[in-house]
Amino acid sequence: MILVLEKGITPDQKSNIRSILFKEGYIVREMSEAGQHIIGAVGKGSLAVDFFEQLAGVSKVIPISTSFKLVSRQLSPEDTRVQVRDAVVGGERITVVAGPCAVESREQALTIANEVRKYGAILFRGGAFKPRTSPYSFQGMQEEGLKILSEVGEVTGMGVVTEITSPAQADMMMKYVDVVQVGARNMQNFELLKCVGRIGKPVILKRGLSSTIEEWLMSAEYILSEGNDNVILCERGIRTFEPYTRNTLDLSAIPVLKTLTHLPVIIDPSHATGIREKVSPMARAAIAAGADGLMIEVHHDPDHALSDGPQSLYPKQFGQLMRDIYVIAPVIGKQLDFDYLDKASAVDYLAKVNGTGLQRAAFLGEMGTFSHKACLQYFGAQVEAIPAPSFRAIFEAVKRGEVDFGVVPLENSLTGSIHENYDFLLEYDLRIIGEITIRVMHYLIGHPDARIDTIKRVLSPPLIFQQCRQFLERHSDWKLVPVNDTSAAAKEISDRRNVTDAAISSKEAAEIHSMAVIEEGIETNPRNYTRFVVIGKEQLEKRPRRKSSLIFSTGNQPGALYEVLKIYADNHINLVKLESRPIHGKPWEYMFYVDVEADAESDAFKPVLDLLDEKTDYLKILGSY
Ligand code: PEP
Ligand code: MN
Repeated sequence: MILVLEKGITPDQKSNIRSILFKEGYIVREMSEAGQHIIGAVGKGSLAVDFFEQLAGVSKVIPISTSFKLVSRQLSPEDTRVQVRDAVVGGERITVVAGPCAVESREQALTIANEVRKYGAILFRGGAFKPRTSPYSFQGMQEEGLKILSEVGEVTGMGVVTEITSPAQADMMMKYVDVVQVGARNMQNFELLKCVGRIGKPVILKRGLSSTIEEWLMSAEYILSEGNDNVILCERGIRTFEPYTRNTLDLSAIPVLKTLTHLPVIIDPSHATGIREKVSPMARAAIAAGADGLMIEVHHDPDHALSDGPQSLYPKQFGQLMRDIYVIAPVIGKQLDFDYLDKASAVDYLAKVNGTGLQRAAFLGEMGTFSHKACLQYFGAQVEAIPAPSFRAIFEAVKRGEVDFGVVPLENSLTGSIHENYDFLLEYDLRIIGEITIRVMHYLIGHPDARIDTIKRVLSPPLIFQQCRQFLERHSDWKLVPVNDTSAAAKEISDRRNVTDAAISSKEAAEIHSMAVIEEGIETNPRNYTRFVVIGKEQLEKRPRRKSSLIFSTGNQPGALYEVLKIYADNHINLVKLESRPIHGKPWEYMFYVDVEADAESDAFKPVLDLLDEKTDYLKILGSY
C-alpha cells in the first residue's frame, strides 16, 4: 500500500507511522513525488487499510493493485536509475553494454573492450561461468575469467558485467565485477535471486525463455525484497513457434514494462535473434521503442569465438550501430554519448580538484524548460542543475565561479542562431567544453478540465509561437500572450487555474506544474532541434575532442575571409558552421564564428593555428570538445 502523507506532517507523526509499519513486518520505502511525500509499505501486516488511514499525518492510503509491489510503477512513478561507477542506467541517457559472450583470454577481452569503449560502450560484458545447453561446450574460464574482467575494468574504466550461475560464486562476484547478470535459465532460481538481492550489487535480470512479464517482475520483486533496488530488466527474446530467429524478441515488452514498473529496461538483440545481420535492426527498433539501453555481443574474430560467434557483431558493425543510435535517441528525447565515460570521469575529477563535491550547472528559466532538459541530458544526475533568470546571468555565474558550468542554446534548426549567446561568447573569457542537441517538441498544456474549445488565451515565448504557426493559425481567435520562457508560461497558467488559459510548453513542465497535455507535437516541423553548448572556466580533460569552435576577425581588404577559409580547405579541415556577427562600436566590421571538425588544441593543429594567426586580426579558440 501507499501512504500519502499530509503536507504538514510532524517528525513525531512520521516516526510513529514508520515504527508501526516496522513492527508489522512491512518493507518500507519513503519518497517524494511532485511535492507529495509518500511511504510505500509492502508486506503481510495484519492491520487493515482503514487503520492506517486514521493515523495522524496520513492523508490517504492507496492499495497496490498488482501482485508485484516494490517494482511497481504505482509505488514509484519516478524512474529508477542504477548507478554503476560513474555511469547511470535509466533516465535521459542510453547505456550500452557490449562485449563477447564469454571471456576467452586476457588478450581477447582487452582487445574487444578497447574496441567497444572507443565506440561508446559504457559497460563491458563477458561470461566467466557459461550456462551451456551441452555439457561438452566451453563452460567459461571461471575465476580466471573474473580476474580478467576485473583487469578490463581497471584498464578501461568501464564497469564490468558477468553472469552469476550459483550463490556459491557470490564472494568472487563481490571481489571482481560491478554488475551481476542473472541469465534467462536462472530467472526463477529463487535461491540465486535472494542471493543477488542480499549482495547488493546492481543486477541485470534477464527474462526467462518462456516467462511472462508478470513472472519476470515477480522475480525482480525477490531481489528488491532482499533490499537491493538496483535491478535492470533485460529482454532477450522468448521461445515461440518461429524458427527463423533463435528466439522471438518481444519489443512490446518495453512499453508494457514502462507502465508496470519503474525499473530500467535494456534489450539484448544478440540472444534474441541469434543472427548477426538481425542484431542492429532490432537494436535500433528497441531504442525507438523506449529502451534505456542495449546489451550487444561483439567479437573481433567471431569465426573463432568459443560461444555465440554467429550472433556477435564485428567491432566496426557495433560502431555503426552506435552512430545510428546517436541519431535516433534525440527523436525520443534521449541521448547517446560517445564519450559518456570520459565526460563523467572528467566532471568527477574537476569536482575533486576544486573540492566542491557535486558540481553545479546553470540553465535558463525554470525546471522543465528545454534548457533544463539539455542540462540533464548532458550531465545526467552527476551535476546539480541551477535555474538562472537570463543568458547573461549564466555567463556571469560561471565567470564568478558561483556555478561550474552553464548550458546555453546557440542555434535552432528552424529559427536559426541565438545571437545574444554568440556575443556573450566573445565578451566573456570562458570556454565551450561540450555540446548537446535535443529535439524540441511543443505541447499545448492547460488545466486538467480545459479542452481545446474552452481555450481563449495561450502563453509562450514569441519564438515558440513562430515554431507552432500552422497549429495556431487553425485557432486564430486565440489571444497569444508572449512570456519569457516555456516554464514561466506553465507556471502562470497553473497559478490561474482556469479552463480558458493554456501554455505552449514541454511535457516535463506540464508534469512539474500538474497541468494536462491538451495537444502534443504542435510544432509545424517535427525536425525541430536545438543545439546547446556547455560553457565552463576550464576545458574538461577528455579525449578525443572531435570539434572546436573559434572566433576570428580579418582586415578589410578583398579576399581577407577567403584567405582564412583557404587554410582550412588546404588542410582538409571540415567547417560545419560559419556565422558572422557585427563588432560592437565598429559599424560594418564583423567577427566570424567557426565550428571545425578538429581538435584545435592538439599538436597536430598547431601549424594550422600559426597560419590562421598570420591571416587574422583577432583569433581565439572558444573550446575543443
Ligand atoms: C549471455 O548473456 O551470454 C546469456 C547466456 O544470455 P541468456 O541468459 O539470455 O541466454
Ligand atoms: Mn551469449
